Amino acid sequence: MKALIIVDVQNDFIPGGALAVKEGDQVVPIINELQQKFDFIVATQDWHPADHGSFAANHSNKNIGEFIDLNGVQQILWPMHCVQETTGAEFHPDLKTEKWKAVFKKGTNPKVDSYSGFFDNNRMGDTGLSSFLKENGIEEVFVCGLATDYCVKFTVLDAISEGFKTTLIADATRAVNIQENDDLKAIKEMSASGAKVVLADEILYFS
Ligand SMILES: [Zn+2]
Repeated sequence: MKALIIVDVQNDFIPGGALAVKEGDQVVPIINELQQKFDFIVATQDWHPADHGSFAANHSNKNIGEFIDLNGVQQILWPMHCVQETTGAEFHPDLKTEKWKAVFKKGTNPKVDSYSGFFDNNRMGDTGLSSFLKENGIEEVFVCGLATDYCVKFTVLDAISEGFKTTLIADATRAVNIQENDDLKAIKEMSASGAKVVLADEILYFS
């Protein structure tokens, strides 16, 4: 059985949000349409405590975009975003959530960031997503959401490493693109690691 994984479609990643992804809002109608094609849907939610180590504001003399060592893992510093119980951490108001089986919160440990919906960046913390999917007989996952070059990419790579047949729905994602073409690099990396890359129309009209 197949599942749709919707990654971090939250207000802070939408234009106007604290860590806005360009055109991030444009994935919402596409993902809502895609949801009609899936009986099993889960979502991930970036869910940080205010003292999270990935926030530049929590380090003296550090700026957004600088790198630090966060408990042995190289960490880029972000603006404060997706703080627990804030509007920025909520899902986009137009995103349909009725069919979701579960939401997997990530980034709750202040000492480590969590791009992937499966594991922390040091692969110590497990959100439970992999076992939830396996317990429900899911063998194939389709990944969409924000952002292509961070949380979507690492969710795809972990899905592959967990043994799921994995497809990236490329036009149902948007990228941070700190460097130009980070999105294309990320898609190449996912593809080289074994992900199938498709456009939403292929699923909407040919499956
Ligand atoms: Zn985050």
